[in-house]
Amino acid sequence: MQFTDFSLDKRLLDTLDHMGIETPTEIQQQAIPVGLSGKDLMASSKTGSGKTLAFLLPAMQRIISTRALSKKDPRVLILLPTRELANQVYGQLRLLVANTQYKAMKILGGENFNDQAKLLARDPHFVVATPGRLADHLAQHHLHLNGLELLILDEADRMLDLGFAEQLKAINKAADHKRRQTLMFSATLDHGQINDIAAELLKSPEHVDVGAGNIENLDITQRIYLADHLDHKEALLESILNNETHKQIIIFTATREDTDRLATKLAASGHKTASLSGNLKQSARNQIMDQFSRGLQKILVTTDIASRGLDLLNVSLVINFDMPKFAEEYVHRIGRTGRAGAKGDAISLVGP
Ligand code: ADP
Ligand code: MG
Repeated sequence: MQFTDFSLDKRLLDTLDHMGIETPTEIQQQAIPVGLSGKDLMASSKTGSGKTLAFLLPAMQRIISTRALSKKDPRVLILLPTRELANQVYGQLRLLVANTQYKAMKILGGENFNDQAKLLARDPHFVVATPGRLADHLAQHHLHLNGLELLILDEADRMLDLGFAEQLKAINKAADHKRRQTLMFSATLDHGQINDIAAELLKSPEHVDVGAGNIENLDITQRIYLADHLDHKEALLESILNNETHKQIIIFTATREDTDRLATKLAASGHKTASLSGNLKQSARNQIMDQFSRGLQKILVTTDIASRGLDLLNVSLVINFDMPKFAEEYVHRIGRTGRAGAKGDAISLVGP
């Protein structure tokens, strides 16, 4: 199967060409036709399998080939759980819209509210957002969603957490009309257990589950090292870092404090280390991610803030310095490697 089989606009096919993307992945083969059909969708497939284009391409095609319901309101809203991931998805969307007359904007927490209000006043067709900030603008009437045609939730299971429930309900209510389509994607969606918020958002959804419940990415080699106590973990980590050959490594800890402490320690022992945690200012967060993605540091120490969605080409090893609290988060963390068919390694240090 080829991208041309979906009857996509020539400009989209050209952009895919430029990106060096030739053949649709399995999730793209299955999800793009449903996206184009106008039906609601719950879709899952393993980490790194190309879910982003599986929703961006039908979204673009719909905007290009149909008339807007409203001249002012955004036509497509894409919601993501973290700012870093929203930046990344926005980057891919920018490539796709660059070739067209359509406008895309991002509305993320941690950035200037009034500047965002001005951006929204320019009536973007696409908005990429984190839910909290978007809901704030909605409450201030900086945008309306009566004309919204497509609502997309990436990392949907995380978005359907209680933590985002209120914002999602407000967004859903503001965009409550017959022509709205809703798409949900994640590596870890339980198709059998749709919670109340998902049930509110979706209308008789189609289900696409590539690998049918088997979320494991077999391109990732998983290892476990048992550790007796913190010093033991640190000694194991030091030995891993000295003996494994990897371009870039992500290390996950349980808390921000652990992240800061471990990063300081690693830097002191001569490792080029960055640390990313949610208490930093957004400008610092952006700078850290920008530098790490350009390969300026070998190691990124972080928390579950970076567990989902990030697509960093040179990360070939993920280390769980502390195990995550939830099984899904384990799947997402190790999924920062082994992307787009590449091989990856994951090592978990498991305490008593
Ligand atoms: P997921 O959301 O499933 O974790 P992403 O959408 O982040 O995966 O895509 C992972 C990587 O695969 C990205 O670098 C993306 O550019 C690349 N990719 C996406 N679709 C294709 C394709 N059809 N062929 C080759 N590479 C692709
Ligand atoms: Mg993704």
